[in-house]
Amino acid sequence: MSEWGLFLIPKYNVVTTSKKVNLTMNITSFTDNKPLIYSLRLEEMKQWLEENGEKAFRAAQIFDWLYVKRVTAFEEMSNLSKALRDKLNEEFRINALTEITHQESADGTIKFLFQLIDGHAIETVIMRHNYGNSVCVTTQVGCRIGCTFCASTLGGLKRNLDAGEIVAQVLQAQRALDADEGRVSHVVVMGIGEPFENFEPLLSFLNIINDNRGLNIGQRHITVSTSGIVPKIYEFAERGGQVNLAISLHAPNTELRTKLMPINRGFPLEKLMEACHHYIAKTGRRISFEYGLFGGQNDQPHHAEELAELIGDMLCHVNLIPVNYVPERDYVRTAKNDIFTFKRILDDRGINVTIRREHGSDIAAACGQLRAQHAKETAG
Ligand code: SAH
Repeated sequence: MSEWGLFLIPKYNVVTTSKKVNLTMNITSFTDNKPLIYSLRLEEMKQWLEENGEKAFRAAQIFDWLYVKRVTAFEEMSNLSKALRDKLNEEFRINALTEITHQESADGTIKFLFQLIDGHAIETVIMRHNYGNSVCVTTQVGCRIGCTFCASTLGGLKRNLDAGEIVAQVLQAQRALDADEGRVSHVVVMGIGEPFENFEPLLSFLNIINDNRGLNIGQRHITVSTSGIVPKIYEFAERGGQVNLAISLHAPNTELRTKLMPINRGFPLEKLMEACHHYIAKTGRRISFEYGLFGGQNDQPHHAEELAELIGDMLCHVNLIPVNYVPERDYVRTAKNDIFTFKRILDDRGINVTIRREHGSDIAAACGQLRAQHAKETAG
């Protein structure tokens, strides 16, 4: 029944708070390039403290100030000596993101547009579920993968985010939820960018948000999504841990996948599936396949049959995503009956499949849309 909810158009209830920032001014005043304190894992914090003649146990205290008490200035860390607070202030930055706008949808989805220290804008989204609040984070400013349906890749890649810039998104989301005592319980790395192209910062980010002296987000509550950077799937499998892996599959054969996702030329479907089989064998963990339904392209019953052939014997789950409309892209929606037919074919083959519930469709919550809009508005 809840599946039908997908097609109800939510009432418009867009609240936009605009703290418009003068971008040009901020870019030219970009002189403060100290590392972000949020980029440090607990172990790295300990090491820094020891190198600076301080006790390692202070690291847990600093984590508590940053991620549990959520202070915004080193000055507030009152159980640290003045000398240590000054030293931290000299060496690290504590303010990572400036809110440009946030929009709240009728379904409770909140979408933030944040400005980074060098003036670039990124998006972060909070989604409300019956099982908790999940935050969707961005890992790169733009993206170079070039998926033909995606808004994030329109302007290409500008730069990678630091680990701390990714951590700070979760922290800002948590601050927003603090108002009504909500908690970030889940994190999905499904915002702008290809996380496996920013691999080391991604691993630090996962480590930092999972740390039980900090935000303490369980690994099983975190999902990383990739467009299919094959070598990194092997590395991710080696790393162990219990973070969920999602693969943006979108097509059941290599010709069609190349048409939708040019990355398939570099990492063809066959190699991608080998990597997925390896990942499952190595970790014993289920993979989640994301399959966008793009009207008339990949959404016919024969595509569903072919998909079932491809993944039918795997430990996996399929998440069907009705296309999010992107003005610059001319993909059209699959009719709801066809979505259910597609799902039924997979169901009948014993494949675990769900249709992704839409969040914040009244506020352009598809990846990269808000940033693209913002770029247009501030251009020139
Ligand atoms: N770069 C990573 C992380 C992005 S996750 C990846 O490709 O997996 C966001 C998911 O939404 C991906 O599965 C992506 O392919 C999908 N997506 C992007 N634009 C979309 C659109 N217009 N409609 C439906 N799904 C889209």
